[in-house]
Amino acid sequence: MASDLAFSIVCVWSFVSPIVGMPPFLSSRAQLLNDDSSYATGSNVELKGKEWAVNDLLMMLKLEEISEGLKTSLYPPAVHFFQTKASIDKSGVFEIIRIMPKGAILHVHDDSLVDLSWLIRNVTYRPGCYMCFTRKRGNVIFKFHEKEPAADEECDWKLVKTERSNYVDADEFDNMLENNISLIVEDPTNFYKNQYDVWSYFTDFFQSFRSLFSYSDVMQDAYYEGLRQFHEDGAQFVEIRSALPPVYDLDGTTYDEEYTLGKLEEANIMFLDDYSDSMGSKVIYSRTNLLMRNYFYVYLCHCRDKDRVTMKSKIELAMTFYQKYPDFVSGFDIVKHENLYNPLLFYWEELQMPSNTGVDLPYFFHASETNWQGSSADENLFDAILLNAKRIGHAYGAVKHPVLLNELKKKDIPIEISPISGQVLKHFYDLRNHPASHMLSHGYPVVVSSDNRAAWGASPASHDFYELFMGIASVKADLRLLKQLAMDSIR
Ligand SMILES: [Zn+2]
Repeated sequence: MASDLAFSIVCVWSFVSPIVGMPPFLSSRAQLLNDDSSYATGSNVELKGKEWAVNDLLMMLKLEEISEGLKTSLYPPAVHFFQTKASIDKSGVFEIIRIMPKGAILHVHDDSLVDLSWLIRNVTYRPGCYMCFTRKRGNVIFKFHEKEPAADEECDWKLVKTERSNYVDADEFDNMLENNISLIVEDPTNFYKNQYDVWSYFTDFFQSFRSLFSYSDVMQDAYYEGLRQFHEDGAQFVEIRSALPPVYDLDGTTYDEEYTLGKLEEANIMFLDDYSDSMGSKVIYSRTNLLMRNYFYVYLCHCRDKDRVTMKSKIELAMTFYQKYPDFVSGFDIVKHENLYNPLLFYWEELQMPSNTGVDLPYFFHASETNWQGSSADENLFDAILLNAKRIGHAYGAVKHPVLLNELKKKDIPIEISPISGQVLKHFYDLRNHPASHMLSHGYPVVVSSDNRAAWGASPASHDFYELFMGIASVKADLRLLKQLAMDSIR
């Protein structure tokens, strides 16, 4: 069966162009296929010189991996990432994608810039790092403090250094911490019952180490290291959504958002000095529903009544930042679980404030990160377009709205696709059914990103590019698609 499929793909390939003398049926068929594929993203790209040889190799490996996956029933895009990551890592296609320049990675959250391994094996080794397992859910959380913090309602705080030395093996201890924070489990389909269940663990993930990032001695190092990891994985530029959480010192002194922004910009400049082939990074200031308590953050749930006054002040701050730091701040977004929080419509007056006052503030909204067509989360798409969003994150419902699809194309608004994120958060399982298949076959502008990749152990960009290339795109999609995606991301 598997070899049959590979055979039929090869046969179809050989008939892509009408040939003089071809039987009329086959000629018409080839013409129809040609016309259809001419809409696909990358179809107008021209390969040059050695790119043809790379493409031949890439497509040979792609077909081999498709055939192999069908034999074993473990074709990576059709199976959960946690269960196929190891085989992706050994794939020849992945190896090519890994070393490929990927352009700009435009949908990344600050708490997933660095991987968990660096966080555990570097940051938690620093003096003054405390940890505890929460009484309620048993998830580990950290914070820095000058002396052992008193036990609180959340947990009993212990010095990480002491806990590690009590363990038989430091490596085992570090692995235990990493496993506790990560969403990776052996059987994700049954372990996470539904989207709300996986989001509750996802919220623990943010809570675990948020206070590590916002400690003054760590923040810049973490940002720099994150940019380094993305650069190593082929990214020329990264755009990072951040709530600019207030930074704290060991004695509990805290600083405001602008202080955080300034420190991140310094880290970006340091990175650019060291990596002259990179275009560095920018920040999308993002309003997040979180609250700081005792130097660590808790995410607020059920915030339907969250006041519009706060939103107004955040937008005003975003306008200030955008004007004051034009080379480092890209615009504004609202980050949340869309099914649980206020939709964009709730803030339509506040969100119109920049245009009403003649101030430029680009928007990059998460919208329609939902399976529910017609829900308020889905309708965020309408508002995002009306509010002139420059790009839109996820947009799973876009293909269900013909008028919106036209608008996306007419206004050239790219959709930010993060394949693994949608699978882990249970929006779909088999990535061949990802709604972006439609976007790619119709040539809508899309960019590929990794969202919160640290939570699920993905690389900064390569794993998501692999899943898109092997599962979301056509079997026949080749190097021209990858080239187009990289160029579009920079454009
Ligand atoms: Zn996101």
